[in-house]
Amino acid sequence: MPPSLPIYMDNASTTRTDPRVVEAMLPYFSEIYGNSASRNHCFGWDAEHAVNTARRQAADLIGAGPKEIIWTSGATESNNLAIKGAARMYAKAPAGESGRGHIITAIHEHKAVIDPCKRLEREGFDVTWLEPGEDGLITRAMIEAALREDTILVTIMWANNELGTINEIPAIGALCHERGVVLHTDATQWVGKMPTNVETDNIDLLSFSGHKIYGPNGVGALYVRRRRPRIRLEAMIDGGGHERGMRSGTLNVAGIVGMGAACALCSAEMDAEGERLFQLRTRLERSLVDSMDVVQINGNIEKRLPHITNISFGFVEGESLMMGIKDIACSSGSACTSASLEPSYVLKALGVGDELAHSSLRLSLGRWTTQEEVDYASLQIREAVEHLRAMSPLYDLHNEGIDISTIEWDAH
Ligand SMILES: *Cc1c(COP(=O)(O)O)cnc(C)c1O
Repeated sequence: MPPSLPIYMDNASTTRTDPRVVEAMLPYFSEIYGNSASRNHCFGWDAEHAVNTARRQAADLIGAGPKEIIWTSGATESNNLAIKGAARMYAKAPAGESGRGHIITAIHEHKAVIDPCKRLEREGFDVTWLEPGEDGLITRAMIEAALREDTILVTIMWANNELGTINEIPAIGALCHERGVVLHTDATQWVGKMPTNVETDNIDLLSFSGHKIYGPNGVGALYVRRRRPRIRLEAMIDGGGHERGMRSGTLNVAGIVGMGAACALCSAEMDAEGERLFQLRTRLERSLVDSMDVVQINGNIEKRLPHITNISFGFVEGESLMMGIKDIACSSGSACTSASLEPSYVLKALGVGDELAHSSLRLSLGRWTTQEEVDYASLQIREAVEHLRAMSPLYDLHNEGIDISTIEWDAH
């Protein structure tokens, strides 16, 4: 039976909220609607109890203690709180002066890490922007070579959102702990998909988000280590001292209940689901790579999350490819901004050329992806690529054995 269309293969952008999560959230809109900070009545107590249950569920997913979970509005806020909060707290010189301290990150992090680091640069911090290898990975050795006497913070994502590639965070964390440097990791793509233990993985600060793990939008969490060592952060939002003073504001109880439920489901189903998605992705990649030439999977092949693939198709034009697969919701290697069509900065960081970056697709499978959908998507992509190549003079030259890169193009 053909799958119903369109097919959603953009789970790295956001996920459908699991109906079981929605079910868990519903009472907190209209029955248990108290303010979790209200100490004088049962409406408040019930809300607080629900928030504490969710705190335990989120903590259990990552091997943390419940008091180490700070609720936020999502991973963007968690990253901002972790990076700016730690840098400003551990700064070696007052605001406005230079030499405030050294931070290490990478050029292909999510914008929610890059932009806070750029702001800190303008505030007088030094930032080292590491470049990944061709496989997209940041290694312990790269961090070790970049560490300085005045390094205060390392922020490296656990798994990359465009590639799915996995950095060796436990090894990087061990190094940071040896050197007394705070380690933050943006684990938005990793948590809920892969087993996590902030103790044995040596992590001080870890960001994750509800809507990437089949929970609701607009809720996230930051893990903040409480002992060995105790990490302190300068708050960004003041007012009332909620969340241990690190993030004031009335809690989004329904959202938090949803994120907690989403975490509990991931804890229970992660292993089987990871295996299922790995099989589906393998099937998808095999069918594309084995049936066509000049197809390249971007990023390290082994060290990858099981559900994401990033594939470039040579000799097709990116926009036309996207037009040709209208029934498949996925991301392309082109970042459409209003004025320009820039190739993905992540693929560029790996040394993927502009042409191939434009003609790349990120397909991210999820909890409701079926084998029928994978087969249908593969067929559509193959048809679109073959159709475009049939019209490509460059592809003809390639088939005649001419190396396109050696052709001297007439400039006129
Ligand atoms: C989605 C994502 C974010 C942003 O998360 P929000 O909860 O939408 O703010 C940050 N980092 C990574 C790696 C992501 O994939």
